[in-house]
Amino acid sequence: MSILKNAIDSIAIGLEDFESTDERRIVSSTRNIFAGILLLFKHRLCELSPEASDEALIKQRVLPAFDATGAVNWIGKGKKTVDVQNIKDRFESLGINVEWKRLERINKYRNDIEHYYSTMNNESVQQLISDSFIIIRNFIVDELEEDPKELLGDEYWKILVDVNEVYEKEKKECDSSLEKLDYFSNEILHALQAYNCTECGSGLLESTSDTGQALETSFKCRSCGSEFHYENIVNEAINDYFTDNVYLSHQDGDDTPVIDCPSCFEGSYLFHEGVCVACGGSATHECSRCGDSIPPEEISDGDLCGYCAHMWAKVMAG
Ligand SMILES: [Zn+2]
Ligand SMILES: [Zn+2]
Ligand SMILES: [Zn+2]
Repeated sequence: MSILKNAIDSIAIGLEDFESTDERRIVSSTRNIFAGILLLFKHRLCELSPEASDEALIKQRVLPAFDATGAVNWIGKGKKTVDVQNIKDRFESLGINVEWKRLERINKYRNDIEHYYSTMNNESVQQLISDSFIIIRNFIVDELEEDPKELLGDEYWKILVDVNEVYEKEKKECDSSLEKLDYFSNEILHALQAYNCTECGSGLLESTSDTGQALETSFKCRSCGSEFHYENIVNEAINDYFTDNVYLSHQDGDDTPVIDCPSCFEGSYLFHEGVCVACGGSATHECSRCGDSIPPEEISDGDLCGYCAHMWAKVMAG
């Protein structure tokens, strides 16, 4: 069987799992769809592998060998095929674009649903299907240069399109309900919009109130109905948000550090925004003694940088 046929079958079975009323098939739905996407990618690497290279581009181990003319060729060895990271490296090197952030979200959800979530329902899988739809469609159109509807078949294509449409509409409603509240910083709003319910993994988090301070508001998961108060999710939401964005954009040194708030000790302090997500407090960022800006690791409830605080302590000690 060809890799492409395997890929399409795996996605189709995953969608049948998703449509099933049997709760036990939810996990296999996420596994099959994710596997199907990776197979689509491998199919492309296979197509791009040089002739007589033993499908070098999908093999983890690739070794040089002389051919009959004495030239060196890279040949695939062994049975082990590329993993997600290998695929990413090879695609990037070949200039093949995939929205890795979306793929990472699919992979994370697939992993979390097997290990962490206590509630499972078809609705909470909608985000995964919606993300998958976008990746599958773009990849088939841009890289395989085929018609996705033809390749997947009308029936399966329709499921993807419909679920994506429903999810995007609901996600938009949730996002605008969150936008109605007041936040210490817009970064908090963005973090909550990117947050996934800890009970079921759904991205459909909405505000229970139309107005007021986010700080005093509870948020509700549309998929499983769980409610969370601001103070119980904001730190995690901020950490996930910054970890994901920093990790995915490969920024070193230029990231936005999140530190523990020096005044309330309970909230995440957004260094670049200069505000704590829990108490709204702001620390001093410029040393009152030497005038230098205070780096994240030296931010305190005082107004001195680490060096000046040290010197001051020495003076006090006599
Ligand atoms: Zn939920
Ligand atoms: Zn604070
Ligand atoms: Zn100083």
